[in-house]
Amino acid sequence: QIYAARTLTSPTSSALARLLSTLAVLEQRDGKLQGSYASAIAAAQKLGGPVTAFLAGSGVKGTSAAEAAKIKGLDKVIAVENDAYEKGLPENYAPMLLENIKTGDFTHINFTHIIAPHSAFGKSLLPRVAALLDVQQISDITAIESEDTFVRPIYAGNAILTVQSSDKVKVITVRGTAFQGVELEGGSAEIVDGVDTNAPAQTEWVSEELTKSERPDLATASRVVSGGRGLKSKEEFDRVMLPLADALGAAIGASRAAVDSGFADNSLQVGQTGKNVAPELYLCAGISGAIQHLAGMKDSKVIAAINKDPEAPIFQVADVGLVGDLFDKVPELTEKVKSA
Ligand code: FAD
Repeated sequence: QIYAARTLTSPTSSALARLLSTLAVLEQRDGKLQGSYASAIAAAQKLGGPVTAFLAGSGVKGTSAAEAAKIKGLDKVIAVENDAYEKGLPENYAPMLLENIKTGDFTHINFTHIIAPHSAFGKSLLPRVAALLDVQQISDITAIESEDTFVRPIYAGNAILTVQSSDKVKVITVRGTAFQGVELEGGSAEIVDGVDTNAPAQTEWVSEELTKSERPDLATASRVVSGGRGLKSKEEFDRVMLPLADALGAAIGASRAAVDSGFADNSLQVGQTGKNVAPELYLCAGISGAIQHLAGMKDSKVIAAINKDPEAPIFQVADVGLVGDLFDKVPELTEKVKSA
């Protein structure tokens, strides 16, 4: 049901826009909205029509659902309070969400679009929901052309695909860095109880090990300082890159070569098989600029690169480039930032 697109009029100018109704499924943890929820809501708002947020977990009505209700422009917030959904396990979350899309007290809401962030949560949940609805999942969109036509990168961002879906309900995950403009304050959406199917869980949450960091979250930071194989060792990576990140108040990122060599934690990898970031500033040193790395950072507003090789491909995408030895240049830059 997905095929090459033609250009359509914008959703707001279409008569169909009045019939649109979007459910934005938001991730929460310990009562706080998580990850790129704002991008999902921004995409939902861009479609036009009323936007309803959806949250499930322990005591969400007083916490994350209340936080969502303050977001400007939401029609309402559907909340399902049950410890069973706290970890967002898709096996029991998906059938419960389906019930909230189709039946229960909300039959009068005709959701035409179901949207979630393209995070681990959204990526494991929405394909199941799409399968249960017997529709096509549309993944990782970066732009909306109309209510049925969406843009998504493929082949690690080397090609851009425009897809048109004829499905009655569009089930979409949204790239976390692609949509902006949500006002997080100023709204007063009503919080209503969702339908809890109490579906038996076939999986059990055992434990998790979270990386704790005082630094900003890589995926949402406005500044990222990233290091590559050129750093040579974990000790040098930490000695050279961390003070610059501290001076700039930036998150730390790394290339896959740096991660595979043990210089940086796996969770810090930027790129095709790592995180997608689009900060105001992406400052990298000792990274060559392989296409798989660029796939994760080329949407950054300003890209600054330090590399000793003037022919390094990173300079083709960099707004600011410095050819030199990073072991001299990065500490020098750090001192300049500190004294600025
Ligand atoms: P290199 O390519 O080795 O570059 C090191 C750079 O450091 C060079 O340009 C060199 O000139 C410079 N340098 C060395 N010493 C100094 C110095 N003293 N001062 C200044 N500069 C110096 N990569 C990712 O990053 N993210 C991904 O998500 C990712 N996914 C992949 C998925 C697939 C399927 C495949 C096949 C590959 C993927 N890769 C990914 C790997 C990618 O192809 C590259 O191998 C990797 O990005 C290279 O990392 P690098 O730039 O740190 O290392």
